[in-house]
Amino acid sequence: MIKIGILGAGTMGSGIAQVAAQSGHKTVIVDVNKAAIDNARKNLSGTIQKLVEKGKWTEDFGNDLLRRITFSTDMNDFEGSGLIIEAIIEDVSIKHKVFSDLENIVDEGCILASNTSSLSIASIASVLKNPKRAIGIHFFNPAPIMKLVEIIPAVQTSEETKNQAKRLIDSWGKTSVLTKDTPGFIVNRVARPFYGEALRIYEEGIADFATIDWAMTEIGGFRMGPFTLMDYIGNDVNYAVTEIVFQAFYYDPRFLPSFTQKRHSEAGYLGRKSGRGYYDYSEGAVMPKPNKDKALGIEIFNRILVMLINCAADALFLNIATREDIDLAMTNGVNYPKGLLKWADEIGIDNVLNQLQSLFEEYGEDRYRPCPLLKRMAKKGETFF
Ligand code: NAD
Repeated sequence: MIKIGILGAGTMGSGIAQVAAQSGHKTVIVDVNKAAIDNARKNLSGTIQKLVEKGKWTEDFGNDLLRRITFSTDMNDFEGSGLIIEAIIEDVSIKHKVFSDLENIVDEGCILASNTSSLSIASIASVLKNPKRAIGIHFFNPAPIMKLVEIIPAVQTSEETKNQAKRLIDSWGKTSVLTKDTPGFIVNRVARPFYGEALRIYEEGIADFATIDWAMTEIGGFRMGPFTLMDYIGNDVNYAVTEIVFQAFYYDPRFLPSFTQKRHSEAGYLGRKSGRGYYDYSEGAVMPKPNKDKALGIEIFNRILVMLINCAADALFLNIATREDIDLAMTNGVNYPKGLLKWADEIGIDNVLNQLQSLFEEYGEDRYRPCPLLKRMAKKGETFF
């Protein structure tokens, strides 16, 4: 079994290290910051203890797992690894520096992967003498729990690197999907309207946060409403991703960020972590009650759903991923109750297209333009599956 190296012992790095070690790999986790290493070690021991207490793991399994992980502040300890996954700060110049350093430490056959959420894999790979060995391997937070992993070959990546990476991640019990090296990959691209359209509906005064959340959970069957979810993710983090995706798509109005979210973020209303976001999480605070008007709820849910389907259809239209992988990504990466393309088939391509057309006509904004693929399919009476 190959040795795995993880660079960065933060939220993602420590989770990915746990996944690799759980699957039996000797795993080295390196961070420049000694405190981050100590923290990762402490958290991992805590996780193991909890799982053993709950009876999910035996004590031996936990001890073996911990023994397989080495913590270090020295990248030279990566020597002999078959795969390195980088999960450090989201800064392209720092990633460039570590990737060129890594190449001097590991053997020719070692795959060099990045867990970046928003940077181009082609750019990260470009600093390598052998860029064929570079790839994106994008886990979701928390890595040990979320099933989905997006595999992102860059234009330089070899077939062999792609196949090896996919095989390995599948062997870790993950659901891997292949996606093109474009902004947001699958999930962070297709999911944008879940937040963006909800914010837009609020900004137009159609409904408040609680009502929109109620519509999406009670009527739509989503596990969490958009505002509850944004408060979990953090408005600062979610806003930053939206802005990055918007810029990366050359300011396509589909991905327009929202002033409401920007102001909440600027005000420090970051969500649960700051005690207040769209909702107040302080002790004794009363959660606002939704307006449970069924017709209003259905209108909100339909509008967000067709915008999500439009985005999924666009991703397929532009060959970002297969229809199967687009649906798998949304059900496994963000726990959507159904794949969006399957959902479109169920409610009817005609129906989706009509709703999008009427939004587009009413607003006259490019944001609502229906995907050409939906138009072609409706004309021919086709379905996605
Ligand atoms: P984090 O801030 O929790 O951890 C980053 C760690 O990298 C820190 O411990 C820091 O000390 C370390 N580090 C910084 N520069 C380093 C260097 N030069 N060498 C070694 N270590 C260094 O960050 P995170 O949330 O774990 O995110 C890491 C990466 O994963 C980012 O690229 C991010 O886009 C991506 N990602 C994050 C999430 C998420 O939900 N947090 C999800 C998927 C992908």
